[in-house]
Amino acid sequence: MRAVVFENWKTFPALKEVDRPVPGPGEVLLKVAGAGACHSDVAIYKDFDAGTPGAVPPPFILGHENSGWIEETGPGVQGFTVGDAYLVYGPIGCGRCRACSRGQDTYCENAASMPYLGTGLGRDGGMAEYVTVPARNLVPLGDADPVAAAPLADAGLTPYHAVKQALPHLDGGGRSALVIGLGGLGQIAVQILTALTGATVIATDMKPEAMRRAEANGAVVAAGGAGQVERIRELTGGRGVDAAFDFVGAAPTIATAAASMAQGSRLTVVGIAGGSYEWSFFTTPYEATITNTYWGTIEDLHEVVAMYRAGQITPEIERFSLDDAPEAYRRLESGQLTGRAVVVP
Ligand code: NAD
Ligand code: ZN
Repeated sequence: MRAVVFENWKTFPALKEVDRPVPGPGEVLLKVAGAGACHSDVAIYKDFDAGTPGAVPPPFILGHENSGWIEETGPGVQGFTVGDAYLVYGPIGCGRCRACSRGQDTYCENAASMPYLGTGLGRDGGMAEYVTVPARNLVPLGDADPVAAAPLADAGLTPYHAVKQALPHLDGGGRSALVIGLGGLGQIAVQILTALTGATVIATDMKPEAMRRAEANGAVVAAGGAGQVERIRELTGGRGVDAAFDFVGAAPTIATAAASMAQGSRLTVVGIAGGSYEWSFFTTPYEATITNTYWGTIEDLHEVVAMYRAGQITPEIERFSLDDAPEAYRRLESGQLTGRAVVVP
């Protein structure tokens, strides 16, 4: 079968012919319906090296945002029907620790002794015609379109988890949220905030087109440049935002988000650009929290699928064939996509 392989640190992935995988005990073989291209993949093949904390060594097939149809079940797997559509929960922990027991493989207490972080993250991923995944990582899609659903596995799940942790800050009248970076994750973050809260959603990106799409999803925009923080604060009646989500994570975006915070608010840095922020007693309002989140739980993913099926989340996608997957990554790198790139083998 054909697959997009991350072969070496700081090397653009290659389209290659590889063996079709065989599902092991407890696993299923999926015929891939859709595999989303995430900006984290770009960090993996372009920025990371053996010394990067948490980086998983090549080679492996990319694609950690996958959906597909059951093709075959491995030894000991029961209860699945060939042809049924599933979304893949990508993180794979030990399955036994406290974090894994609550469905949060992302924070597996034994991650250091695991050979990989998940499907498409050390273990072969979904940018291929077929992929094997543990049966416990499957979330049913029913009759929902599995191709448009693929981005839910990361671009949906990650903002959902981040927003859910921040919900106590958005519970009440007159609240507001800030979303910085309106790409794959950020656009869905706007949809989730609009569906789950009554907060005013303020959105910003350096691309006017991305801000127009966020506006169509219910946000008010605050363009970058001089006076941006003042404009954001004005939209909140001067209080600042109750929750901020930074889907870039560069020093300037963290600084903008931090300067926009209200007392008692929460800033979640989701983007992995690696920017730092110098904190002291006087830099942020009282009881304002700055934190990060990584992906989400499998229970969150069931909830994300429910929102998709209810029409509350609609990923905007651009389809690419497997042969055009390298082109999808080139366009993701250069900021030329207008929706999440989904590779449809
Ligand atoms: P993307 O390329 O689809 O979107 C990024 C958006 O940010 C683009 O619209 C771009 O124009 C905008 N942007 C970039 N720099 C900006 C700046 N300085 N000011 C304003 N806007 C700016 O990326 P994505 O796939 O949505 O991923 C977003 C980030 O989240 C990446 O860093 C990715 O690695 C990270 N990520 C984190 C997790 C996690 O679990 N924490 C999971 C998935 C992705
Ligand atoms: Zn674990």
